[in-house]
Amino acid sequence: TPFSTSASMAFDIIGTIESCYPDKFGIPRQPGLAPSATAILRFNTPFDHPDGVRGLEQFSHLWISFLFHQSPKRWTPLIRPPRLGGNARIGVFASRSTHRPNRLGLSLVELVGIEYAPTLALILRGHDLVDATPVVDIKPYLPWADSVDSARAGFAPEPPPLLKVEFSDECRQTLNERADGENLAALIGEVLAQDPRPAYRRKKHDDRRYGVRLFDLDVRFHVDAGSHGHESIIVVDR
Ligand code: SAM
Repeated sequence: TPFSTSASMAFDIIGTIESCYPDKFGIPRQPGLAPSATAILRFNTPFDHPDGVRGLEQFSHLWISFLFHQSPKRWTPLIRPPRLGGNARIGVFASRSTHRPNRLGLSLVELVGIEYAPTLALILRGHDLVDATPVVDIKPYLPWADSVDSARAGFAPEPPPLLKVEFSDECRQTLNERADGENLAALIGEVLAQDPRPAYRRKKHDDRRYGVRLFDLDVRFHVDAGSHGHESIIVVDR
């Protein structure tokens, strides 16, 4: 029998993400852009049986299907991708927008390891997910099937340009005092190089102070347009 087009589907939440990103602001717009980002995918009962992940350790990368739970349920056929400066519109199904019917997201992440205690969990890197994101499915990545060398990538043909990131002495000192300082410095560099500011802020002179939360840190930064018309740099204040 055909599946009714008006059917609504209920998904089980098989697991929940514990993320280095407590807030949406600052999260890179695709996975892999901040390879130092870490997350734990903790399975929910009854999906936490070790048999469900038997063989998964043989794969280096996974597809994570998840719910954009922090996005509104309402959606429109046209969206404004940040990549196009925030003004030009494109079809929602021609985009990876978080504002879409069913609010389903798909991210390719690195699998670092599997933990079996205290509860079943996957250790992930390079993700683009906010803390508490509900996960609906996991599949291994198959490079021979999932990667296409000759693929065209429309209005996003290459990774977004990176800004240079400089750390203030105060920030360096804070990081030096932490056991995880080295990894945090790498993560801050990768995240801020993406220029987390909204697209409309990037054009004009910008003397605002911004903050991005990473783990328990509130990272403060501003953008220095450069005194000789040089490229902008991001300065991490503290
Ligand atoms: N790679 C996924 C995809 O293509 O479906 C997500 C792409 S989406 C453009 C990435 C952005 O989603 C992140 O920068 C973050 O701001 C936002 N995000 C991450 N987790 C979310 C969640 N649970 N609810 C709403 N927005 C989320």
